[in-house]
Amino acid sequence: ATALSISKLEKTYQNGFQALKSIDLTVPEGDFFALLGPNGAGKSTTIGIITSLVNKTSGKVSVFGYDLETQLSQAKRCLGLVPQEFNFSQFESPEQIVINQAGYYGIPRKQATVRAEEVLKQLGLWDKRSQPSRNLSGGMKRRLMIARALMHKPRLLILDEPTAGVDIELRRSMWEFLTELNEQGTTIVLTTHYLEEAESLCRNIAIIDDGQIIENTSKKDLLSKL
Ligand code: ADP
Ligand code: ADP
Repeated sequence: ATALSISKLEKTYQNGFQALKSIDLTVPEGDFFALLGPNGAGKSTTIGIITSLVNKTSGKVSVFGYDLETQLSQAKRCLGLVPQEFNFSQFESPEQIVINQAGYYGIPRKQATVRAEEVLKQLGLWDKRSQPSRNLSGGMKRRLMIARALMHKPRLLILDEPTAGVDIELRRSMWEFLTELNEQGTTIVLTTHYLEEAESLCRNIAIIDDGQIIENTSKKDLLSKL
């Protein structure tokens, strides 16, 4: 199956700036895919459109065959998003935050409680589950963002610059976690401006620059060209 299909995607912002100039991308199910490019290339815009936080100007996007325009709720159920910025309430505990997220997906409370224990343990946050999240370290907050995105068991996990500004130790442990998650069957797409990250983790890499895909290939092929 195809996890993500993007065709002729264009985005022009209100101010007239064209951030995406007809992008095509296909990510097969099971892939670990990097969208690699410098700041300002259009990575966040692309992710924003896939997760329906940003309106596209034209083109077509589908997730596991569900068209974002006509089958949005089915598409959303397949998608988990880890945004770049912390956007949870600092006053709520990790447990509250992940259980609230389950509510958005209509997961019954009892089932959400069971799932919350699973994801919080998986991400090493179980001991901190009842603390206000403002007390968590930066690394724990990053892991909380991942835990929250995994509550509804998305088939496709999208991460926007997951390790930007993260120290080397946490980066390594996040890489390990994501590799394991991918091996267990979750398709992963991440954006990064670190070649090293794309190289260490991903099977396929697309390079985006100035709103255009300038390369889309397997890691092996890309490395042989550099
Ligand atoms: P990246 O994630 O690769 O750093 P972005 O997708 O955030 O790139 O941005 C791509 C380009 O679009 C940048 O030049 C950015 O300044 C511009 N841009 C992003 N958001 C807006 C907006 N709301 N209005 C106008 N331009 C924007
Ligand atoms: P609706 O389905 O009512 O349109 P939204 O589009 O606001 O709801 O959100 C759908 C799901 O995506 C919710 O679980 C929400 O928490 C999550 N979500 C929306 N925006 C973000 C974001 N920036 N970061 C993480 N999750 C988000």
